[in-house]
Amino acid sequence: MESTQPLSGDPIEARCTKCRKNTDHIIITMAEEEPLKVQCNTCSRQHKYRPPTAARKPAVRRAANPQVAERKEWEVLRPGMNGDKATDYSMTEAYKVKALINHPVFGLGLVQRVVGPQKVEVLFEDGKKTMRCK
Ligand SMILES: [Zn+2]
Repeated sequence: MESTQPLSGDPIEARCTKCRKNTDHIIITMAEEEPLKVQCNTCSRQHKYRPPTAARKPAVRRAANPQVAERKEWEVLRPGMNGDKATDYSMTEAYKVKALINHPVFGLGLVQRVVGPQKVEVLFEDGKKTMRCK
């Protein structure tokens, strides 16, 4: 199946520097896999193919996805956490992986890994947070 390969004469969206936006173009010549030269349908100018630029929307924060993943992780791990064994969080305390802590703001948390000197990553119901420790 090589039907996705564009051919000369095919319409293609490209960046036109004269129109200063992405416009419909017709492929004039093809290079190996990419159009080499295209003609703008709007201003009829022929120029080197430039891929259409991404719409300049304000960068959408993609934080939602990791949060969903972390929430799922929490839901999977939560039944195995014995809240009675959690110790109150203190940054002067040393924590090991799998230790349970009680944070005054975030609540119950599971230490998941040591991320650096005096830092551990803790999974809370709200998601993962890096916490200071001894
Ligand atoms: Zn143009």
